[in-house]
Amino acid sequence: MEAGRELRAEALRLAEDLRRYQYEYYVLGRPSVSDLEYDRLFDRLSALESRYPELKTADSPTQRVGSDLEAGFEETAHTVPVLSLDKAYSVAEVVAWMRRLPPQTVFSAEQKIDGVSIVLYYENGVLARAVTRGNGFVGNDVSENVRTVRSVPLRIPYEGKLAVRGEIYLPKKDFELLNKTLEVPFANPRNLTAGVIRRKQSREAAVVGLRLFVYEGFFEPPLPDQQAVFEKLREYGFPLNPHTVFLTADEERLRSQIEKETRGRPLLPYEIDGLVFKVASTAEREALGYTEHHPKWAIAYKFESPTGETTVEGIDVQVGRTGRMTPVARVAPVEIGGSMISNVTLHNQDYIDLLELSVGDRVQVSKRGDVIPAVERVIEKNEGAPVYKMPERCPECGAEAENAGAHRFCPNGDCPAQKRGRLKFFIGRDQMNIENLGGETMDFLIGKGFVSFPPDIYRFDYTKLMKYDGFGEKKVESIVRGVEKSKSQPFAKVLVSLGIPELGPKAVSLLIDSGLTSIDLWLEAAEKGDESVFLSVKGVGPSIAASVIGALNRPEMRGMIEDLRRCGLSFECGKRSSGTDSRFEGTSWCITGSFGHFKPREKAQEEIEKRGGRVVAAVSSKTDYLLAGEGGGGKRGKAEALGVTIIDEQRFLKMIKGEE
Ligand code: AMP
Ligand code: ZN
Repeated sequence: MEAGRELRAEALRLAEDLRRYQYEYYVLGRPSVSDLEYDRLFDRLSALESRYPELKTADSPTQRVGSDLEAGFEETAHTVPVLSLDKAYSVAEVVAWMRRLPPQTVFSAEQKIDGVSIVLYYENGVLARAVTRGNGFVGNDVSENVRTVRSVPLRIPYEGKLAVRGEIYLPKKDFELLNKTLEVPFANPRNLTAGVIRRKQSREAAVVGLRLFVYEGFFEPPLPDQQAVFEKLREYGFPLNPHTVFLTADEERLRSQIEKETRGRPLLPYEIDGLVFKVASTAEREALGYTEHHPKWAIAYKFESPTGETTVEGIDVQVGRTGRMTPVARVAPVEIGGSMISNVTLHNQDYIDLLELSVGDRVQVSKRGDVIPAVERVIEKNEGAPVYKMPERCPECGAEAENAGAHRFCPNGDCPAQKRGRLKFFIGRDQMNIENLGGETMDFLIGKGFVSFPPDIYRFDYTKLMKYDGFGEKKVESIVRGVEKSKSQPFAKVLVSLGIPELGPKAVSLLIDSGLTSIDLWLEAAEKGDESVFLSVKGVGPSIAASVIGALNRPEMRGMIEDLRRCGLSFECGKRSSGTDSRFEGTSWCITGSFGHFKPREKAQEEIEKRGGRVVAAVSSKTDYLLAGEGGGGKRGKAEALGVTIIDEQRFLKMIKGEE
């Protein structure tokens, strides 16, 4: 089918607009439309072109994705790969990337300079061309302007051809001074730099104090690693960023480096928008390889979270296991940072008031990898609509809600929403971790009335499920296995699973360490109303103490504990249901490094805890064992100094198999 006149006209119009926006964005550095709007138009044109190929022209904006090419500057092809970087928006994502590397891998941690990417081509020691990144294959020759940048070496003692990648930037101070004199100021130093790099008169560029940092050199034959490249580049007079460090794949070291750079960021004389981590060895880089867009041997950690725009279609109130009522915005699905978002928490009424949010508003939503998405601000009001007010009653059971602190609660302990929340919490990964029994099955069990509080989970005859669709023999067996297995969870996990408000794993472990090693001791203290038993423990505050005492004195809680005890759960340290092994009883462990068998290393922690051992975060004189994997850092030194027994993975495997 051929495209009709209307579509043809639309494609032309889209191409024209997109070309103008690209020019504004890449050349002027002053976009006049939002990224979202740009993407929408771009996607529309791409869709039209793929449906009706005859609409595609050689100079269509879709053919120059993300290009900064500009007519006034000669186009030159890159002779080295000028790729983009894979992005991470949370420390967890960087850690995950690092864990995939062999443990002894050395990599660099560099600042991601927020300037303009440049490739410098030298021929027989002379700067022959300076080329923008362009679309990665072809860039603009901006040599005239780049030659005016004083830190760019014009001559180097090198025979043959050498390409060097770097970033041209403008220090914050210079930006502020210069921007003040402009009629239309630039939004940031990067945009101003991009503008200067493309001045028609290099005289104008020369007066602006642009600078350079280089971070890659394409030597032929290649040098063995990045350290060698940096050494050579430094020797030739290239400016290298002094903040670069080289690390091994050690998680703690990585975290502390990110923390340090994040803290130091505001004090830097120039802008950075993240950090870049790169495998150092040339051979390892080649082995890891590339995707179409980025090398697999590097990752950029970005400080700012990605955002998206969407519309609030409604606001629901969810009631959690503690009765807390949380308003949640239902939004038109939008992709942010690689995942589809359709629900966004609004925390409480205060937060809604702060945003002045109404249903129908257009909002900006942000998402960092490891954090739930948040509404950042209202972009466009749904004029006339009132600011949303949370209901006065629990939407689930109709009980009149109570306010406590910033939150509103359903006070009815029998509220179906709360019961459901408690059951789901109980079976959750960080609590009893009942394998093969997920939230959906739980909803089914609750709906049918088979399960209404935790002991039911251990008393229900799961074979009864076999008469329902979707519950085959295999599935039922696996649920039974998961339920049975969960009985060997240690006392600490059982305690947390009870869902006593404010009593998390950290407080539990502190309290158990202080001597509260069986539920009877807890119940006794609660019965006496003896807060001091809890308060004498450092790290346990009055609100935890009050919550524990209140909860453990409630008859329903006492009943549930007795029931669960009868079901075989362990309510005492070291005592667990029959058949489990407790060879690590009473020992304290610390873990460092990474392991071949235990990935993630929480798996090793599980093995220790299953056998009655305790895992602590730091090595101290009270630690019995340091389980040390590959690449462990400071903990090993500390353990050695304190005489703590260090156990490697092989020995640990023998220990848990009972061979030692
Ligand atoms: P992006 O443009 O967001 O894909 O990120 C890749 C860009 O980050 C590169 O093209 C460089 O211009 C820039 N960059 C800044 N500092 C560095 C660095 N230390 N290593 C690699 N790229 C960097
Ligand atoms: Zn309720």
